[in-house]
Amino acid sequence: KPPQHRKGSLHDVPEALLKELEQLESVFNVSAETLRKITDHFVLELEKGLSKKGGNIPMIPGWVLDFPTGKETGDYLAIDLGGTNLRVVLVKLGGNRDFDTTQSKYPLPATMRTAKSEELWDFIAGCLKKFVEDEYPEGVTEPLPLGFTFSYPASQSSINEGFLQRWTKGFDIDGVEGRDVVPMLQEAIKKENVPIEVVALINDTTGTLVASAYTDPETKMGLIFGTGCNGAYYDVCGEIPKLEGQFHGDVAGESLMAINCEYGAFDNELAVLPRSKFDHQIDAESPRPGQQAFEKMISGYYLGEVLRLALLDLSAKGIFFKDQDLSKLNQPFILDTSFPARIEEDPYENLSDVQDLFQQELGIQTTDAERSVIRRLAEVIGERSARLSVCGIAAICKKRGYKTAHAAADGSVFNKYPGFKERAAKGLRDIFQWETKEDPIIIVPAEDGSGVGAAVIAALTEKRLREGKS
Ligand code: BGC
Ligand code: MG
Repeated sequence: KPPQHRKGSLHDVPEALLKELEQLESVFNVSAETLRKITDHFVLELEKGLSKKGGNIPMIPGWVLDFPTGKETGDYLAIDLGGTNLRVVLVKLGGNRDFDTTQSKYPLPATMRTAKSEELWDFIAGCLKKFVEDEYPEGVTEPLPLGFTFSYPASQSSINEGFLQRWTKGFDIDGVEGRDVVPMLQEAIKKENVPIEVVALINDTTGTLVASAYTDPETKMGLIFGTGCNGAYYDVCGEIPKLEGQFHGDVAGESLMAINCEYGAFDNELAVLPRSKFDHQIDAESPRPGQQAFEKMISGYYLGEVLRLALLDLSAKGIFFKDQDLSKLNQPFILDTSFPARIEEDPYENLSDVQDLFQQELGIQTTDAERSVIRRLAEVIGERSARLSVCGIAAICKKRGYKTAHAAADGSVFNKYPGFKERAAKGLRDIFQWETKEDPIIIVPAEDGSGVGAAVIAALTEKRLREGKS
C-alpha cells in the first residue's frame, strides 16, 4: 500500500511560485503557541456563553438530564436532518450497552437548502411514512416515539422543543428561524397520518455524546467534524448561571445537563482566530456574514472553498493555470470536501490522480509543478482544520477539569479526510505538552449519535416522564 498523505515534494517549482506558496503556507500554519492562546480564549468564551448575559457561543442547555446507564431498552425511531441526507433509523436498545438498528437514507433534494419551510417538513413526513410502512407492514398499535436530531442551533427550555436560532452550513429556508421546529414537524406527520410522536429534539453533538456514553462510560464529550462543527458535554446545573430560576421538577444544583455548545460560532468577534483573506471572503459572501467564524475556517462545507480561493489567488498573480479555462473553478463551492481529500489521497509521485481530478472535474490541465503546489495547499488547509478543531476539545477539558477523556467524534471530515485524526492528536499534544507515553485525552470514533443517541435520549425522556420528573 503506497504511503498516504506524506508531504508532497516540491520539485521543479519555479522560484516565484515557490515564494507565493511559502507565503500561503505561513497564512495557514497555526503554531503550538497560537493553539494554546486560542484554547485559553475558548475556555473564557464557553463560560461567557453560560453566563446570564451570554456571549458569542450559544451554550444551549439540551435538557438531557441523565448520563445513560447502558441499561436503557425499547424500540425508537430517530431521524437526522443533516446537511446532505435525511436519515431515518429504527433503533432497538438491548439494555446491555447494545443495540440493533435498521435505517434508510433519503438524499435531500438539491434545492432544499433554499426551499420553503413547508416543503422541508412535508419531505421529512413523506420519508417517515415510507419508512414506517416498510418496517411495519401490519401497522402499529401505539404511536412510535421519535427522537429528532436537528443539527442546527435551536434554543430549548425543555427536551421536546427547539426554536431555530439561525440556519448554518448554507441552509437558508424561510419561515423557520425564530420558530419551534417540533410542532412544524408534528403537523406534517399528522397530515400524512403516520402514528409517530416526536418526544425529543436533539442536536447531533448531544446525540453523539449520549450514544457514546451508552457504550463507553469514559466518554466526556460528543463532537461533530463534518459539514459543520460543534461539540456537546455534560455540565453541572449549579454552574450554569443562565439556568438560574429555570430549574423545575427534580433538577438541582448538582444535576448534570447536556450542553450543546454551538461553538462553530466561537470567536465571531475575531479576537484570536488567524483569519486569512480567503476566510474573510467566504464569510462576506455567505448568507450569514459575521456568524460561525470558527466553523467557516475548519468544517467540511468550507475546506474545498478555501482551496478554490487560494488557487484563484495564485492564478490571478499570473503564475498558475496559465491559459486554462477557469470558468468551472470560478464557480463558488464547486469543490466539496471530497476534492481536497482526494488530492491528499493521491499516492503517486507524479500526482496523476490529481491530474485526472482537475482535468475531469474542472477541465484544467495541470503541470507537475502546479500539482505539487496544489497538493501542498490541500495539506496546509487540511492541517489547519484539524489543529484548530481540537481547541474546542481542549477548552472543554480545561473548563471541566478533565485530566483524561474520551472525546467521541463523528462527521465526514473526521471519518474521511486523510490525516485528520493524526493531525488532531498532534494538535492536542501541542496544546497540553504531555510527557506521558500515552495521550490522556484521546479522540475516539463515536457511536451513531443521531440513531442510537436519539433513541437513548428518547428512552431517558420517557423514563423521566414515567417517574413524574421534569
Ligand atoms: C450547527 C450545529 C451542528 C454542527 C455539526 C453546525 O453548523 O450549528 O448545530 O451540531 O453544525 O453538524
Ligand atoms: Mg450530520
